[in-house]
Formats: sequence, C-alpha cells, structure tokens
Amino acid sequence: MTKNYNAVVVGSGPNGLAAAITLAQAGCSVLVIEGKETIGGGLRSAELTLPGFIHDPCSAVHPLGMASPFFRSLPLERFGLHWIQPDAPLAHPFGSGEADAVLVERSLDATAARLGVDAGRYRLLMAPLVENWAGLLGDILGPLRWPRHPLLYARFGATAVLPAAGLARSLFSAERARALFAGLASHSIMPLEQPMSAAFGVTLGLLAHGVGWPIPEGGSQRVTDALVGYLRSLGGDLVTGWMVQRLKNCRQPTPIYLT
Ligand SMILES: Cc1cc2nc3c(=O)[nH]c(=O)nc-3n(C[C@H](O)[C@H](O)[C@H](O)COP(=O)(O)OP(=O)(O)OC[C@H]3O[C@@H](n4cnc5c(N)ncnc54)[C@H](O)[C@@H]3O)c2cc1C
Repeated sequence: MTKNYNAVVVGSGPNGLAAAITLAQAGCSVLVIEGKETIGGGLRSAELTLPGFIHDPCSAVHPLGMASPFFRSLPLERFGLHWIQPDAPLAHPFGSGEADAVLVERSLDATAARLGVDAGRYRLLMAPLVENWAGLLGDILGPLRWPRHPLLYARFGATAVLPAAGLARSLFSAERARALFAGLASHSIMPLEQPMSAAFGVTLGLLAHGVGWPIPEGGSQRVTDALVGYLRSLGGDLVTGWMVQRLKNCRQPTPIYLT
C-alpha cells in the first residue's frame, strides 16, 4: 500500500515522535521512518538477559518525560503510560556503606539537612528554581525567545553557564554536596571543567525536587509505545527497518502499520 505524506520524520526516538505528533496535531499527514527494526531510539526496552526480564538499554529515568510542557500536554496515560515515583529520586553512594550515601528526597529541606555545612548553600542554589520549576522549564525547554520569567531565567543561567567543577568547588565546602552535584552534572556527558556542564546538575537537581525522577511502569518502551499510540490516533504512520541514506529515499515508501 502506498500513500503520499505532507511530512516525513526520520527517526522514532522521543524527538522524532514529538516532531511527528506536532505535525499531525497541525493537520499534516505524517510518516515516521525508523532505520532499526525496533522503535524508540534511546527510549526502548528489551529482554536482554532472561525471558520476561525487561531492561532499558539506554534511557531509564524520565523526569523530563513528566515535566516537559510538551509531554505534559499529551494524553499518554490513555495510551498505557503509567509513571512510578520512587520514594526518593536518587542516592549518591560513597562506597563506605548505605548509611553514608546522600539521599536526594522530594523535600528540599530534608535533602539539605543531609548535607551538613552545605545545607544553606544547597537551599540557596535550588529553592528559587524549585519554587517555580514549571515556569522555568517552559523557558529553558522552549524555542529561543524572550523568557516568560526573565529573573528566574537569569538566575538559572548565571549558574548553568558555569563549569560544574568550578561551581561545586566555589559553592560547597564539603565533599558530600560537591560529589552529589558532580554526579548530577555528569549526565551532561561533558568534562566537568567545561562551561555549561553545571546546567545539567542544576536542572536534574531541581527536577528531583520539583517532579521527582519517575520511571515508566514496564520500562522506557512504554513511553515510546504511548507516543506511537497517540501518533497513530492522529493518523500518523510508522515504518521500521528503513535506514534513510538520501533525501530521495523518503519518497513513496510503503508503510507498515504497527499493531
Ligand atoms: C547511556 C545513555 C543513558 C541515558 N539515560 C537517560 C535517562 O535515564 N533519561 C533521559 O531522559 N535521557 C537519557 N539519555 C538521553 C536520551 O536517551 C536521549 O536524549 C534521547 O534518546 C534523544 O532522543 P532523539 O529522538 O533525539 O534520538 P534517539 O533516541 O537516538 O533516536 C534517533 C532514532 O533515529 C534513528 N535513525 C537515525 N538515523 C536514521 C536514518 N538515517 N534513517 C532512519 N532512522 C534513523 C535511530 O535508529 C534512532 O531510533 C541517555 C542517553 C544515553 C546515551
């Protein structure tokens, strides 16, 4: 069966699916072409060890899946997505036993209280951002434009542009808070001496307090499946096993409907 489309999106990762949904919501007929046999890109799950044991080979914890204004606008629960909130978003171990780990809780005060001499500094860094996390995320995740919350945005930006190592050393005086911040900022996959690596530490920290670090029930694939379910309800199509090599490859493909 062949069909003409207004738009073709290459790649079925979360960004490709978000783009396809946006186009479909705007009334375009959309085809998503995925090069691999499985959908989702970094947002996948697989039985990697024993049958029935589901693993997430790439992304696993999804604070932005719950917090991003775009994701919050989608009816993903209707398409089978259920978030699980752990009692505490994360812990940073020190190798000397469970009791020694820094536990990051939803409560900013409870978390700060575990950081000893750096409690006040941690609160100073996080409190203004956590108080209006939803407004801030709207500004930092959206397209470049004049921010809706300029003061908050400036406050975030003043720390976010720094190298994580420099910020941790200048702000905190003890190992526990410094190590916690370094662990959060390491998600940038950048050297911690590099400018802007602090952005990841600040963002993941404020998300831990603002929305938690939820995981999808059944694994990350459930987010992809819900996105695809919603896309299909809007009339979008998806084909797998089609690695696009050239622009002309996108012309007149044969869609395979997912079940
Ligand atoms: C090890 C690791 C752990 C991570 N953990 C987390 C986490 O816990 N939480 C979190 O929020 N984020 C996490 N991330 C980040 C997250 O995985 C990415 O931000 C996200 O997957 C990016 O989505 P994307 O749609 O841009 O790209 P991808 O997810 O990479 O999807 C791109 C898709 O496009 C397809 N494609 C590429 N080229 C072609 C082509 N020419 N033709 C057809 N198809 C093509 C690919 O096969 C792929 O399916 C992690 C990343 C890594 C590497």
